[in-house]
Amino acid sequence: PNVLLSVQDLTKHFPITGGLFSRVVGEVKAVDGVSFDIKRGETLGLVGESGCGKTTTGRTVLRLIEPTSGHIYFEGKDITKVSKQEMRNLRREMQIVFQDPFGSLNPRMSVGEIIEEPLVIHRIGNNQERQKRVRELLEVVGLSAYHIRRYPHEFSGGQRQRIGIARALALNPKLVVADEPVSALDVSIQSQILNLMEDLQREFGLTYLFIAHGLNVIRHISDRVGVMYLGVMMEVADADEIYKHPLHPYTEALFSAIPMPNPAARHERIILQGDVPSPVNPPSGCRFHTRCPIAQEQCKVERPPLKESAPGHWVACHFR
Ligand code: SF4
Repeated sequence: PNVLLSVQDLTKHFPITGGLFSRVVGEVKAVDGVSFDIKRGETLGLVGESGCGKTTTGRTVLRLIEPTSGHIYFEGKDITKVSKQEMRNLRREMQIVFQDPFGSLNPRMSVGEIIEEPLVIHRIGNNQERQKRVRELLEVVGLSAYHIRRYPHEFSGGQRQRIGIARALALNPKLVVADEPVSALDVSIQSQILNLMEDLQREFGLTYLFIAHGLNVIRHISDRVGVMYLGVMMEVADADEIYKHPLHPYTEALFSAIPMPNPAARHERIILQGDVPSPVNPPSGCRFHTRCPIAQEQCKVERPPLKESAPGHWVACHFR
């Protein structure tokens, strides 16, 4: 009952078509057997380089993209099995905040209309009640109700992201998937938005799946962190633990790039050889074996399961 969302063995493969008759010639294994839980009221940060499958994971969890296989339990119910109609009702409880406040807001709709739209779609309240709710939401995200008739282009990037958040909160969701919500913003604005999201989480008991490639952003907001590489979850642990004692060789290399506040601390940057391989033909065995500094023969053939190496600290490596 403490777990709000449980994802089990989630897979999403996108077909690649080509040739004269647009036949399927291959598939992109964007997400390949990912499992994790999110407890009520916590923030799970999902981190990894672009193309690691974190965004596809976030969208598949909401069934904005249909999974290829696997299970997604929301409050104990497997939402991969529910009808479209039932999913529409469930969407009230699970919302998304997008990266690009420019692209995700309709430029021809006023701010009031943008925030009101989910209430209209779900037929909630009469006009007067909805207007009242929109004003409330604007205030909740730190904007004045005076903005209600203005248009997205009249706002700064940070203000637009506040509008995106207000819209996501309109239906009182339990889960919010935040997909790179601060990546397009200046660093000073980033922390304002992160602080706002933390305040809203406390006030409304929200649960976040927070997707970002910025390691400092993930550290700021997350209770626990999941690290993805080529469609696979490599490590999951409490945020403090994973930043201080990363176990997976990929996490070690990724986090070694973060500048240390204390330059005297022993800290060696680990530079990985080669590029991230293609998700069309990912390496056999451990996905990371082509770049791993400690890889052995076994790694080429056997995929390491995600196992609990220390209490609450999960890692997918044969040797950690
Ligand atoms: Fe490296 Fe092997 Fe561990 Fe993969 S399983 S991370 S290749 S040591």
